[in-house]
Order: sequence, then structure tokens, then C-alpha cells
Amino acid sequence: MAGPLVMKFGGTSVGTPEAMAQAARLVRQAYEAGRRPVVVTSALSGVTDLLLNTARIAAQGRTEHIPPARQEIQARHRAIVDALLPQGRQDPVWFLIQHRLDRFTQLAEAMAVLGEATPRGLDAVAALGERMSAPLLARVLEVQGVPAVSVDAAEIIVTDDHFQNAVPDMQATRQRVQAHLQPLVEEGRVPVVTGFLAATPEGVTTTLGRGGSDYSASILAASLEAEEVWIWTDVNGVMTADPRLVPEATTVPVLSYREVAELAYFGAKVLHPRTIRPVIEAGIPLRVRNTFDPEGPDTLIVARRDAVAGRVMALTVIQHLAMVIVEGRGMLGVPGVAARTFAAVAGTGTSVLMISQASSEQSICFVVPKSTTGDVIPALEATFARELDRRDIDRIWAMEPVAIVTAVGEGMRQTPGVAGRIFGALGAAGINIIAIAQGASEVALSMVVAQEDVVPALRALHPLTQEVP
Ligand code: ASP
Ligand code: MG
Repeated sequence: MAGPLVMKFGGTSVGTPEAMAQAARLVRQAYEAGRRPVVVTSALSGVTDLLLNTARIAAQGRTEHIPPARQEIQARHRAIVDALLPQGRQDPVWFLIQHRLDRFTQLAEAMAVLGEATPRGLDAVAALGERMSAPLLARVLEVQGVPAVSVDAAEIIVTDDHFQNAVPDMQATRQRVQAHLQPLVEEGRVPVVTGFLAATPEGVTTTLGRGGSDYSASILAASLEAEEVWIWTDVNGVMTADPRLVPEATTVPVLSYREVAELAYFGAKVLHPRTIRPVIEAGIPLRVRNTFDPEGPDTLIVARRDAVAGRVMALTVIQHLAMVIVEGRGMLGVPGVAARTFAAVAGTGTSVLMISQASSEQSICFVVPKSTTGDVIPALEATFARELDRRDIDRIWAMEPVAIVTAVGEGMRQTPGVAGRIFGALGAAGINIIAIAQGASEVALSMVVAQEDVVPALRALHPLTQEVP
């Protein structure tokens, strides 16, 4: 018999009565088609943020935000209860939701008393969102005749105690999944599992990091030897470019794991590569589908794919950056300048997005968020005070605002001429490339351009994603 089908719904896919009704419809269809769904759900969109922000503010002694936050979260769930459950607020799940909301008030008030929000406490608060959405979705399915059962992931996903960003113990998890989840599936039940949260071996609630429901789905799919994973979201899979910037963007039909990793690193809001590694390693196909357009195009993500030679699959951009330039003739052949440069930057807590050094060694350039140059430049000036004095380093300055435009595609590997076509397209559009970087993986080619050139650059490059070379 084919393995179960893991269906994960993001916050916008369960965030309103209409969305949750649609999510339930999709689960019911899969169930009626005999596909043995295992559902994983996020909290209602915005709820995790509201829970965490309220708790953090409470820890500063400001408790006045707790009642309105509670009200708002309650109202969001009430709208769904009223619309989708025949018994409405007489339904037992409504009492469970009240109970969770009480818990939220208690935890937030406790943080106010203690004057601190520990990572462990914040996880207990954050997990409440899914501890409301999953039982609610399970009830909605149940009243529609699907034998759903709500499952708390703390019972089945085991992690270390790295609160807020816990690391799963796959072996312990697999045992729990086989003991507690597999039997439900075999009985023909449809488990609805809380995304995002897990627990230590002692049972203390942890979370898998923001956006962690994808990770939950992936961990469960690997442990269940699922047939497929469908990540339901509010867009048609992964697009060739951000459609707000490039209206002619289309859905990329198939992407490899490496392409996903590069896209995520260079700013595309797709899956975090860490979260899908368990399914990729298990060879389980994963699809990114649109809850609100289930018949529309989607993206299949696979471990490896036959690269189309020369093909650019997608473009991404990170905006509002600065390129910092350390330049001077005295840097030629002097070891340690790069090390000292990046040590100084690291000392400010800034993450460097891209590095480039010309072969003359007369300058080192790197890209950081624009908001950090006020810290980075003085730190570099302090580190290189002597070199600046002696004029070995002439100048430390920032070119801003700039952006990094990245072309991603396995087919760019070992295919001569791709870079030429990319630069040619930009040249023809009159766009100046300030710096270039290509990783050794050759799956991504990044270019720094002026902020004002972002949209023209994307539009000039986009035809490359559509052609079949
Ligand atoms: N609700 C969690 C968050 O907002 C997890 C998720 O949505 O994937 O980060
Ligand atoms: Mg999410």
C-alpha cells in the first residue's frame, strides 16, 4: 500500500473561515480519493507573532497589551467556530480554545512578574497558536464526516532543548511516530498534527524555529515513509521571479534541493532548505501548492533533477543593501587584511551576504544590509587605524543603496556562455553591474546593481527563465 500523504497548511491557508473551509475541503478530497492524509497545520496567520510580541512586551512589565491580544486571537478563532461548526460555541473545541487563551494570559502575566521572557517560556507561548488551530481544523473535518483526530506534536516529535530553534532527534521521533501516529493512519483516521512545536525527551515544549511547520511536515513525512508531501500556501509554488516586481513571472515546475537552497539564501520567500532536508534525504517528492488555486500550477521539489543546460530557473533579489569597500594600494600581498576585515564586521553582529575581491588585491568589497553601515564602517576604521594613517588603506566607504540580483539554475553548471547571456541581457538594457559573485556550486550567479536598477535588471533577465536553450 502507498504511504500516507502529508498535507501541510500554512497560516494563511487556515487564517479565515473561508480559508479553513477550503483547507478542510482539500483534505476531504484526498481522503475520499483514498490517499491517507496526515495533516500538519500552522497557527492562524498572524497569531504566532501576536502571541510572541505580547509576551515580550509583558516581560518588560507592560501587561496592558495582554487583554486586547487575547481578544483578537479569540475573535479570529470564534469567526471560524461560528462559521464552520454547527454547534458553534457549544462545541467542545471552543472550550479548549478558551483554555489555551487562559494559559496565554497566565504565561504572559508570569513573564511580567518575573520581568523576563526566557526562550523556554516563549516556546510555551508560541506553541499555543498551533495548539488552537490543529484541534479546530480537526473538529471542522470531523463535522464534515472525515474521521480526523487532533494530535499534539509534543507527543511525537522529539528535539533537544535548544528552545526557539530546537533540533529534532530523528531516531527517537521515528519511534514515537511509528508507535503513536502510524496506528491512527492504519485505522483509517486522519491525524491533524500541530506544526512548529515539539518537545524534549522530558516532555518540555520546544519549537522548531519561525516558519517551522514545514519542518514538522518534513520530519513526519520522513518518519512515516510518506508517499508525498504537499505544502499548501497562498501562492502557486515557486515563481520565476517576485510577481510584484515582474508581472510576467510564471511558476517553476521542478526545482532541485540545491536550487531551493540558493533561492532561499538569496532572498526568495520559499522553503527554508533545512526544513525540507528530511524529505529530500528520504527521496520523498515535495510539492508547493496554492490552497486557493488547487488546480493551478505548482512546484515539485526533488533531490536532483536533470539540468537543462544553460537554463536559468529563477531570479531573486535582496534589496536595500550597501556595498562596503576597503581600498588601498598598500593592501597588495599583505596577508590578514581579509581576516581582520571580516573579524571586525563579525564583531558588530552583521551578517555578510556576498564577498568579492579583485585580483589586484587593491580592494575588498562585501555586501551588508544598508542599516548596518553605521556600525560596520567605524568598526573597520578602528581596526585599520594604523593602515589608514600610513595610507596603506586609502579609504573605507559604502556604496548604497544597492541590491543583489541572483540567477539560479542547476543548468548554469559547467555550461559555458550562461554568464555571457546574463551579462549581455543586462548590458543591452543599459544596466551597470557593480560586482559579481559565483559560488563554487555554480548553481547561482549573483550581481550587485544599484537599487534603482532592480526592476529593469529583473525584467531584462526574466526572458532567460522562459527560454528552452
Ligand atoms: N506558526 C509558526 C510561525 O508563524 C510556524 C509556521 O507558521 O510555520 O512561525
Ligand atoms: Mg508559516
